[in-house]
Amino acid sequence: MSKEEKILVTGGTGMVGYSLRWGHIYGNGIPDATFVSSRDYDLREKQQVEAMFAKYKPKHVIHLAARVGGVKANTDYVADFYYDNIMINTNVIEASRRVGVEKVVSFLSTCIFPDDAEYPLTESKIHLGEPHSSNYPYAYAKRMADIQSRAYKEQYDVDYVSVIPTNIYGPNDNFNLENGHVMPMLIHKCYLAKKNNTDLKVWGTGKPLREFIYSKDVGELTTWALKNYDESEPIILSTSHEISIRDLVDLIVSGFNYKGKVIFDTDKPDGQYRKPSDNSKLRKYLPDFEFTSIEQGIQETIEWFVENYEGARKWEKH
Ligand code: GDP
Repeated sequence: MSKEEKILVTGGTGMVGYSLRWGHIYGNGIPDATFVSSRDYDLREKQQVEAMFAKYKPKHVIHLAARVGGVKANTDYVADFYYDNIMINTNVIEASRRVGVEKVVSFLSTCIFPDDAEYPLTESKIHLGEPHSSNYPYAYAKRMADIQSRAYKEQYDVDYVSVIPTNIYGPNDNFNLENGHVMPMLIHKCYLAKKNNTDLKVWGTGKPLREFIYSKDVGELTTWALKNYDESEPIILSTSHEISIRDLVDLIVSGFNYKGKVIFDTDKPDGQYRKPSDNSKLRKYLPDFEFTSIEQGIQETIEWFVENYEGARKWEKH
């Protein structure tokens, strides 16, 4: 995409923003876009959002910004998670409409699906039941981004769409050890276990299955969605390939060449056993898309983490 097309990326300093920003490394990104973060604008504030749009006058928006956190943060700050996310989405999508943005791609998450959804998850099941009680404020606020996009498309004939990636991992993730997601936490833990000659402690039995997608692939698929995806229904971005936590641990352990002991701490929760998704819709559009293998993605992420240990995000965000 050329500079003239003026793309604004909210939440631009996170993992996905990073994969778009470094498009010259990754090939298919959009390094010419403007990347804004919460340090630049407080998107909960309508006036700040309007000022941001007045300044950049984008034609396209990739909306990544959200208040995110693990299960503990979601539980401790339930009201804040609802308010912050609903305000951020409402302001960004409405301001986009007001200044004539032609396309918005908003990011949702698989945790918005109903707790008792029938597997595999498909795009048509988002609103068919209550989300899990541990993150319902976040989930409902995110669901409303889908509703808002659909409504704006219907009334204003704008191309506002949503994408739903499964567990994203990659460089510039948040590697904090208290309340992170499994991939960055295990990478950080294994790094420390190797450095300090200690055991690697994994939560749970190792049996649960998850689907991971590399941030570089999400960057490419986002660029694709920006140009090509225009359905009002969201699209799931997923490999639809499950891996057990045990196998994931093996990959991380061999990525670090860690020779120490691995302990599965079964006092810690496993969470859901699996939550597979169906990527048929994505495959219908992009039958030949080649996902980065998880082996390669993990290797690159480990290398990035080791090289950038000091600067990598490791703190908890409230
Ligand atoms: P979930 O996908 O919402 O359940 O979130 P997580 O990414 O936190 O956890 C996925 C799975 O990895 C669960 O079965 C966890 O028990 C397991 N797991 C193993 N070790 C860790 C760890 O160090 N941190 C986290 N967050 N999960 C871990």
